[in-house]
Amino acid sequence: MADYDYIVVGSGIAGLYASLLAREKGQVLILTKGSIDECNTRFAQGGIAAPIGPGDSPELHFRDTMAAGAGLSDPQAVRVLVEEASERIRDLIRFGVTFDTQEGEVALTREAAHSLPRILHAGGDATGEHIELTLSRLARSSGVDIREHFLATGILLAQGTAWGVRAVELASGREEDFQGRFTILATGGAGQLFRYTTNTDVATGDGIALAYEAGAEVMDMEFFQFHPTALRLPKAPPFLISEALRGEGGVLRNRRGEAFMKRYAPEGDLAPRDVVARAILAEMMATPSDHVLLDVTHLSPGKIIARFPRIYRFCLDHGLDITRSPIPVAPAAHYTMGGVRTDTWGQTSIPGLFAAGECACTGIHGANRLASNSLLETVVFAQRVIERTVDPGPNPHAPFLSQETHSLPDRAVHPQALEEVSTLQGLLWEKAGIIRTGKGLEEAAITLAAWQKALVPGKTRPSREKWNLVLVGRLLVEAALLREESRGAHYRSDFPQPSSAWQRHVVFRKE
Ligand SMILES: Cc1cc2nc3c(=O)[nH]c(=O)nc-3n(C[C@H](O)[C@H](O)[C@H](O)COP(=O)(O)OP(=O)(O)OC[C@H]3O[C@@H](n4cnc5c(N)ncnc54)[C@H](O)[C@@H]3O)c2cc1C
Repeated sequence: MADYDYIVVGSGIAGLYASLLAREKGQVLILTKGSIDECNTRFAQGGIAAPIGPGDSPELHFRDTMAAGAGLSDPQAVRVLVEEASERIRDLIRFGVTFDTQEGEVALTREAAHSLPRILHAGGDATGEHIELTLSRLARSSGVDIREHFLATGILLAQGTAWGVRAVELASGREEDFQGRFTILATGGAGQLFRYTTNTDVATGDGIALAYEAGAEVMDMEFFQFHPTALRLPKAPPFLISEALRGEGGVLRNRRGEAFMKRYAPEGDLAPRDVVARAILAEMMATPSDHVLLDVTHLSPGKIIARFPRIYRFCLDHGLDITRSPIPVAPAAHYTMGGVRTDTWGQTSIPGLFAAGECACTGIHGANRLASNSLLETVVFAQRVIERTVDPGPNPHAPFLSQETHSLPDRAVHPQALEEVSTLQGLLWEKAGIIRTGKGLEEAAITLAAWQKALVPGKTRPSREKWNLVLVGRLLVEAALLREESRGAHYRSDFPQPSSAWQRHVVFRKE
């Protein structure tokens, strides 16, 4: 059995960044189920938030993040995020990431619900690609043991402590156990739960499922962010149209050409994502249409092409010149706010098991993520994970445990086969998407439970991912059913207001 100090599952920004810091402390293994650069990180466009601009401060960034979180962001975790942001940006620069500059200074743009320009970007709208390729190149040349096409299928436990990972080498189907002093889940989100998504196909919630199965706490699963503006062109694959276009002056119009956002929110086109997503849905129903239009034709074509080269090129390749014609857009699933519950050191409720990046729930995002805080969260908390493994603090073997947890209910249903993952994605889009009802969630909960009863976790990637999606879908739907209120990204038309009784988290743990 192979033996390491650190086993990192996943090779997006969280996994790579943690590995690069960890290799200075011991032997590191990265397990990743695709090739190294297959991840969501690579597609991040807008950039990474940090309070470094003129007039900005950690305090202002703190306030914006807390406001977006709609009463559920953890102030202690948000403090850590904003205060350690600039140091982590310096690390990324040290690792070779070159952020865009303007007149010799780092260029900053503004995105929804940030009170001023705060978003660093690289290669215009190719921030994620720059970060991913820079870090993966460095990891390859730095002595990290990287196993591509290895699918993690279990956390190895002894007396309640994690001691490694079980994984399947996908080429041979051979199962192997890897022993590590510290196991770090960096498996990303679960956007593949939904029919319309901006996420790549690796985003099947694997780390959340692995952690839940191992007995770790999983929190805030009902909060899933829907991005208001994904491209909706016939035959075009899923593609995000960054909020930064609205930050630079882009205007949302309905099919009749009317700018509508001021009717829904005083901030207009830069209102929080959940507000914009619901407004777009309402306009789509009223006009009626399967999309609205994002208009940037009044902006300078030169500026659009320079600032958004990737979006410009992608749309042009699909027959649309965005400098001349408005862009058809509609909401799509985008970001998993909930996940494996951690403290501010990335420690899960299982000793030896850490989580970082989108699979973790550090408490930063609460009910709604502030744009571009996720890349920042990955680096801030991945660094703290490594710091904690070197200096375990006063009581290393006593991670938090919640007072009140739920386990998935054993619903009395007959097993039912789930043939295609697309059926699950359709169900969650319809019943647990942007607008939810108790009735729809109940129906989804019953169907998911019936699917789960008929499934066994297989050893191929598709069968394992299907199992994970059903389990994580159940966590999402059961949490959404419990939360009888609307808050942030969780909107229930049968409980359209926030309720002070619900200013608390829903935490699941397997019994
Ligand atoms: C289109 C798009 C645009 C975005 N734009 C921005 C932005 O501008 N700013 C911002 O802050 N955020 C943005 N986000 C969100 C941000 O990109 C992600 O939250 C972040 O990149 C997640 O990084 P990660 O390392 O946690 O996960 P990922 O980058 O998704 O990496 C997950 C890794 O885990 C591996 N993995 C998963 N399961 C297993 C398993 N069972 N075994 C082995 N390996 C496994 C995957 O193969 C992958 O390598 C965007 C997201 C998308 C989809």
